[in-house]
Amino acid sequence: MILVTGGAGYIGSHTALSLLQNDEDVIIVDDFSNSDKRVLENLEKLTHKKIQFSELDCCDEQALEQVFIKHTISACIHFAGYKAVGESSKIPLEYYNNNITSTLIILKLLKKYNAKRFIFSSSATVYGSPETSPINETFPLSVTNPYGRSKLMVEDILRDIIAAEPDWSIGLLRYFNPIGAHESGLIGERPNGIPNNVMPYISMVGAGKLPCLPVFGNDYDTHDGTGVRDYIHVMDLAEGHVAMLAKISKEVGLSTYNLGTGQGYSVLDLVTQFEKVTGQKINYEIMPRRQGDIATCYADPQKALKELGWKTTRNLQTMIEDTWRFEQDSQGKSR
Ligand code: UDP
Repeated sequence: MILVTGGAGYIGSHTALSLLQNDEDVIIVDDFSNSDKRVLENLEKLTHKKIQFSELDCCDEQALEQVFIKHTISACIHFAGYKAVGESSKIPLEYYNNNITSTLIILKLLKKYNAKRFIFSSSATVYGSPETSPINETFPLSVTNPYGRSKLMVEDILRDIIAAEPDWSIGLLRYFNPIGAHESGLIGERPNGIPNNVMPYISMVGAGKLPCLPVFGNDYDTHDGTGVRDYIHVMDLAEGHVAMLAKISKEVGLSTYNLGTGQGYSVLDLVTQFEKVTGQKINYEIMPRRQGDIATCYADPQKALKELGWKTTRNLQTMIEDTWRFEQDSQGKSR
């Protein structure tokens, strides 16, 4: 059985769905601090399976150990964690405590219960301010905020573990910019309050829930001056985890992959495409650059293609259609 921490969250829920659709047995653990219990019902609707789940905080070792006692866990995919970059600079202690402690506890339990297989949600943020794009996995690593540092610290911990105990199987997945939702419109991203990320923001402007998109800078060295990122459909990302699980189920060692499309779009590209796909006008206003942002960041996804046989199949139009379907289906429901 695969332990999916944070399995009610945005990427976790889509990955749990992909795993279940690939006939894996899954147990979700989540404390619902940034997710909604209704996700579990929707996963049941989508899979016609009973979802196994336990409400707990992964920093609660005793509670988590009960899951290992009740179920035969063969691997863990660890999504649970705090993820707001800005907030991480304000409450670094909470970020380090939550993101590092939970990982250490899970690793300890995986070892104790003889299931040394682990997939970690890392981020392209570990590349800091890369000098060029596309970015491959050998690029130098650096970080500029506590959120990013917590990701890099866990990566470092995992590299130390594999050096000491080569019988672990570990996958480090560096996500670029996940957007979109499952095509059913039943699960998607539901940020609390005003979104930090650009796509949920655009979608809420499209739905009339926010008046205007702030565009953070139009003087970057990019084709239209706005920041360029590698937006990846969350279901493509989810399928990347299924491919990674196949690898760690048969091989020991640690391997690291970028999960991105290899294609960059600017903020204004997103606005234009969103208007085209949905017919909604997106008001925007050019604002000063956001601190810590870089001009361009997109992946070289070749290593994942060669070694995992994984590549993205959903284009920007599909990402926007699915975002918009979820936005409309969740109209009237709590945000
Ligand atoms: N961005 C923006 N307005 C927003 C949020 C983000 O213009 O309200 C820009 C941001 O400057 C960056 C891109 O959108 O160029 C992606 O930002 P996001 O926060 O979604 O992801 P990041 O790449 O920072 O992780």
